[in-house]
Amino acid sequence: MSYSEPAQTATRPTRSVVSSTTWTVPRTLGKAHGAVPEPVSVFDDDTPAVANLDPELLDALRRAAKDAAADGVEFVVNGGWRSPEYQRQLLRQAVSKYGSAEEAARWVATPDTSAHVSGDAVDLGPSAARAWLSEHGAGYGLCQIYANEPWHYELRPEAVEHGCPPMYADPTHDPRMWK
Ligand SMILES: [Zn+2]
Repeated sequence: MSYSEPAQTATRPTRSVVSSTTWTVPRTLGKAHGAVPEPVSVFDDDTPAVANLDPELLDALRRAAKDAAADGVEFVVNGGWRSPEYQRQLLRQAVSKYGSAEEAARWVATPDTSAHVSGDAVDLGPSAARAWLSEHGAGYGLCQIYANEPWHYELRPEAVEHGCPPMYADPTHDPRMWK
């Protein structure tokens, strides 16, 4: 997740003036659930968002990051693996931000459909890293999947030989989201 993906921004619990027994403080889930409060390196094995990524994705990411570093470009991870609970929290925040479940679906998947929950997606920054990846990523099988999410990368091993598949305009066009 990136600076420009506001759904991730944790909402501060606000105090209800007319407090009632049914009102609950929103629970903010931490690093163990895949939160990335500060961007981290792709080599950070102590951050579950990174360490719990699919090993093949992580391997491709680290090989690309080493080669990018030789070009003076650093990769940072803004989001990666997430627990289903954390994904659900992000979705709730997106629904309240965008005003409807339909609009939120353009940006945040459900726990059942998210490639982040299965460890198959990583959100990368900064823009120099994205620029490097859009040029060289396919050679590692690293592909941008959604046109509206330039930070979101997944592994497409066939891209090494054939290039990345065409992007979906946004996640609502991705058949994986139709489950
Ligand atoms: Zn993502």
